[in-house]
Amino acid sequence: MHGRALALVVPLVVSSLAVAEERPTDAYLDQTRDRWTTVARKIWETPEIAMQEKKSAQALAEVLQKEGFKVTWGVGGEPTAFVATAGTGAPTIAFLAEYDALPSLSQKAGTATRSAVVENGPGHGCGHNLLGTAATAAAVAANRERQSRKLAGTIQLFGTPAEEVLFGKTFMVRDGAFKSTDAVLAWHPDDQNRVANRARLAAAASEVEFFGRSAHAAAAPWAGRSALDALMLFDHAMALMREHVKPTARIHRVIQEGGVVANVIPDHTRAEYWVRDATDQSVQELLARMRKAADGAAMATETRAQVKLLFSVRDVVDNPALDAVVQKELERVGPPVYDAQDLAFARALQKELGAEPAGMAQKVSPYTAKNGNTASSDIGEVSAAVPLSELAVATRPLGTVAHHWVQTSCAAHPIGFKGMLVAAKVLAASGVDLLSDPAVVAAAKADFLKATDGKPYQSPLAADAKPQASR
Ligand SMILES: [Zn+2]
Repeated sequence: MHGRALALVVPLVVSSLAVAEERPTDAYLDQTRDRWTTVARKIWETPEIAMQEKKSAQALAEVLQKEGFKVTWGVGGEPTAFVATAGTGAPTIAFLAEYDALPSLSQKAGTATRSAVVENGPGHGCGHNLLGTAATAAAVAANRERQSRKLAGTIQLFGTPAEEVLFGKTFMVRDGAFKSTDAVLAWHPDDQNRVANRARLAAAASEVEFFGRSAHAAAAPWAGRSALDALMLFDHAMALMREHVKPTARIHRVIQEGGVVANVIPDHTRAEYWVRDATDQSVQELLARMRKAADGAAMATETRAQVKLLFSVRDVVDNPALDAVVQKELERVGPPVYDAQDLAFARALQKELGAEPAGMAQKVSPYTAKNGNTASSDIGEVSAAVPLSELAVATRPLGTVAHHWVQTSCAAHPIGFKGMLVAAKVLAASGVDLLSDPAVVAAAKADFLKATDGKPYQSPLAADAKPQASR
């Protein structure tokens, strides 16, 4: 009897010890915390927008090179894209680093009222300085454990530029950058701690142009054909279409060129239209309808329409097998731990925005379907080519959003740095789990094949399309 009772008790003790277990990657990241904070701060201090992230990419690549990673630049035809590789053989586990800033979101660190460092200057309002640094730290920590335990396999870190214009990774995938990759671990700064799955919207952006015939607007208007008329008619058609789309669809636009002076009939106009929806299939249908509207407007005004796809990203392909690994490690590491000052700062930001003074997320959300936000991301394209899981860790107060000066303010503040360290620990440990357990990688591949029906990845980009910063 006694022996039996022991047998019942022992596994419980072992499992509770396992929950509290500190992994070598955690210890390494704790010891090197200042190094990562310095890198993240440096990137934050020189914010660079999409396709201009020279210094930011260099800062991460330098660290990786020092750690023995081999760095290759110019992946996908993008000068600020790189891949850093360490180790050999299968499996190949990749981390994704982003580092582009957003225009006009300059904000002083740790300030609770709007106050730019540089008026209208760029800033890390999406926290990509934290994103890129945590991914790099995770790659370094996982690689150190790979070496010390002599694990088989390869670790990659992809330096992925131009996420904010939603095409950086799309070019990298089109050009086969992920061909030898077995699984991808991504993360994004958030207001919660959770595995993000399946909620991001598919999106596509198009440049719509009309070409007409110029004429004197008073002396010979009959000789002209207005490209502005065409654009107005097209925009009206799109506005009417909004009644006949699914509630999940989003259509937004800006007019970039509407003519120069009113007394000359404009012969050229240009606008940018974005369409989004829950699935890529619906986005493609909306694009087809948009092309018809453009052709119809051109026909009615005797002008010519040209619709050029700028980028297209699909909804993220979920991978439950990888998600389970990341969720397990997130629960083991636990949420960031804040002091009274951090929480007071979070509440001050919430007060400034008129939001509920709920402070910071101090728990890990359970794994459920549709966790995450609806912003689109080019990780959708990566997830359609390789098994991918995305983690979200709190780096800003509850109820606040990305693409906001609040995130810039928190991205070089202990609130952001604490979230960054948690993300690095979770990603590093998840990477080591995948290196040391081929069965999980096989399960991730099986999930991927099921979700994609075994169809090979097809790029939405034309074979000759080139990455270009918006005009
Ligand atoms: Zn972002």
